[in-house]
Amino acid sequence: MRRGLGYAIAVLLWLAWAAPVDALELNLKGTFTQGGLVIGKTAPGATVSVGGAPAKVSRDGYFLVGLGRDAPSSVQVQVRSRGQTQVRALTIKKRQYQVQRIDGLPKKQVTPDPAALKRIRADNRKIGAVRAQALDAVDFLSGFHWPVRGRISGVFGSQRILNGQPRRPHNGVDVAAAPGTVIVSPADGVVALVHSDMFFTGKTLMIDHGLGLSSVYAHMSQILVRDGQRVVKGTPIGKVGQTGRASGPHLHWGVSLGRTHLDPALLAGPM
Ligand SMILES: [Zn+2]
Repeated sequence: MRRGLGYAIAVLLWLAWAAPVDALELNLKGTFTQGGLVIGKTAPGATVSVGGAPAKVSRDGYFLVGLGRDAPSSVQVQVRSRGQTQVRALTIKKRQYQVQRIDGLPKKQVTPDPAALKRIRADNRKIGAVRAQALDAVDFLSGFHWPVRGRISGVFGSQRILNGQPRRPHNGVDVAAAPGTVIVSPADGVVALVHSDMFFTGKTLMIDHGLGLSSVYAHMSQILVRDGQRVVKGTPIGKVGQTGRASGPHLHWGVSLGRTHLDPALLAGPM
C-alpha cells in the first residue's frame, strides 16, 4: 500500500515537472546527405510536412524524409498535433557526382525504336505504380544490409552522357558478382512486383518496405519469390544475372521514397 502511494506521488511529481516542457515529439535519425534517408518519429496522429509537401505518417508516428540526388542544402520538417507545432530545418550535405562519357555507341542502343519505347513505357508504368503506393508499414525499421557482395561497378548519382547526350543519372548502385550468386532481401518487406522480362532491367523484382519506401533488383537470372510474399532481412530473393540491357553480370539495386531515388549504399553502409 505504502509502495503504491509512493509510486502515485512519483508519477504526480513527474507530471508536474514534465507538463511545462511537454513539447511535441520530433526525433530524426539517418543520413543528412544528398541521397540519404532520414527516419522520423513523432506523436501518433500528427500531421507532417517535408519541404512543404505532406508526408505519410504511420499509426505509430513514424515518417520518412527522402533526400534526393540534388536535395537542397536545407530541408524543413514540420510536425503538427493537437494545436502544437514543431519545425526543424535539416542541414543537408552536398555531394559530388561522377560524370561518365560513353561515345561511339550504336545509335540503336542510345535511341530506342518505337517498339522498344512502347515496352519501356509499360515497364515504367508498373514500376511507377509500386513507387506511388505508401502502405502503413514500418518494415524499414529492420535496417538495411547489402543484398549481395561484390565489386561496386556503378555508384549512385553518376551522370551518363551517351554519344554526347546527357541521360538520367544512375539511380542505384551496381554490384558485379558471378552469375547465379544468391541475392537476399536487404530488409523486411513485401514483394510488390515480379517481372520476367523488362526492356532495360530484365528479370526485375520490387520490395515494398512501407510508407512509400521501395527497392528494386534488376538483371537477375532467376527470381526466387512470388508477388505479395512477405520477406525478412536475409530471405533469398533471386540470383545475379545479365538479363535486360546489361554489359556484364551484376545486380542493379535501387531504393526510392515515392519517386525520389535514394543511395542504397548510404542505407547499407560500407560493404
Ligand atoms: Zn545500375
